[in-house]
Amino acid sequence: MNIFNEQEQERIREAVAAAERSTSGEIRICVERTCKGPAMERAISYFNKLGMAKTKLRNGVLIYLSIDDHHFAIIGDMGIDKVVPPNFWDSTKEAMLTHFRKGELVAGLEKGIHLAGEQLKKYFPNLSDDVDELSNDIAYGEEK
Ligand code: CA
Ligand code: CA
Repeated sequence: MNIFNEQEQERIREAVAAAERSTSGEIRICVERTCKGPAMERAISYFNKLGMAKTKLRNGVLIYLSIDDHHFAIIGDMGIDKVVPPNFWDSTKEAMLTHFRKGELVAGLEKGIHLAGEQLKKYFPNLSDDVDELSNDIAYGEEK
């Protein structure tokens, strides 16, 4: 799967690691070529497949993006939904869209990861004994 080259993957991995230094929330990126069905449903399906509901504080966040048809969604686990206001992710999505519209997929993801971290740290500050509960690597969808 050659959606992103090594360097791009490294940029995303670094962005996730950096964001997770300020929050105990766990951010994952999942990409695939095309989105079959509503982006939100795909995101929920991958969230479960990737075992993202297993974090201690139930504060995993998945940013899903389909590369060719430009659908994306952000979902947080129930620990987040319980404490944040509705429309919590809207400003992050807006900022990502600005990049995606220009075809800047990696920059858009980096921006989203950064902002998600900023948003999360108010509710889930990083603790000194933090564990990297979910991989910082990109997860790829089912398509080859
Ligand atoms: Ca962590
Ligand atoms: Ca992580």
